[in-house]
Amino acid sequence: MRLKSKTALVTAAGQGIGRASALALAAQGAQVWATDLNPRLLDGYDGIANVRTAPLDVLDKAAIERLVAQLPALDVLFNCAGFVHNGTILQATDEEWDFAFNLNVRSQFWAIQAALPRMLANRGGQGGGSIINMASVCGSLKGLPSRFIYGASKAAVVGLTKSVAADFVGRGIRCNAIAPGTVDTPSLAERINSYDDPAEARKNFVARQPMGRLAQAHEIAPIVVYLASDESVFATGQVFSVDGGMTI
Ligand code: NAD
Repeated sequence: MRLKSKTALVTAAGQGIGRASALALAAQGAQVWATDLNPRLLDGYDGIANVRTAPLDVLDKAAIERLVAQLPALDVLFNCAGFVHNGTILQATDEEWDFAFNLNVRSQFWAIQAALPRMLANRGGQGGGSIINMASVCGSLKGLPSRFIYGASKAAVVGLTKSVAADFVGRGIRCNAIAPGTVDTPSLAERINSYDDPAEARKNFVARQPMGRLAQAHEIAPIVVYLASDESVFATGQVFSVDGGMTI
């Protein structure tokens, strides 16, 4: 059990990468708080050992603060929530920009701000904690077509991650980002189905990965487990890409 005695909070754990990661963290012995905007999705955790669930809208700062204050302990925060906008800068609206930056970036700012005092109090005040932020290949690592708002927001996640890492590196806190390639999740299926020719769209998403396929969510979860565990004790401020060769 690589995560025995760790308590982890996961946002957007109702489906996709968040759910696969929450399950993987729990399977390694962490006490996991799996949260999501949609409480119905959390029913899928019924009966799973080491997982407790709570509805949480990461756009609600007070709700984040309340939940963090209720946790018995906090060692790992996985900020997974995010949304993909389609379009170039010419299609982008101010409303879409605000929504994306609130959900993809500001929510991480709020969750980390709430979690840090708890983490800094760990180990008798010496501090201890691992923060894992969801970025993407799309953003600081690679520009992708029709991902203007998304890429800008995910690049901001990398800057946020490195800033937190730099400020707290001497106080027992590590902060890293993960950057998946294209992952076969419910929201990707929605994006694919919104194209006039979904079969062609799927082919194009697959073609982005030199490995010639999409990732499954459980193939991203191991990097989250690694970063949550003490195995990654010397790693901070980095972006860990798991992308089927997209950034070779
Ligand atoms: P998804 O998009 O299928 O599911 C997202 C989950 O987030 C849902 O359960 C939804 O209810 C929840 N959610 C939405 N708004 C929320 C809010 N305000 N508060 C709390 N929860 C909320 O899952 P996914 O595709 O695994 O994406 C998860 C993260 O991974 C996102 O940040 C996404 O940008 C990132 N990502 C995904 C891919 C991919 O190809 N799927 C690739 C790279 C990065």
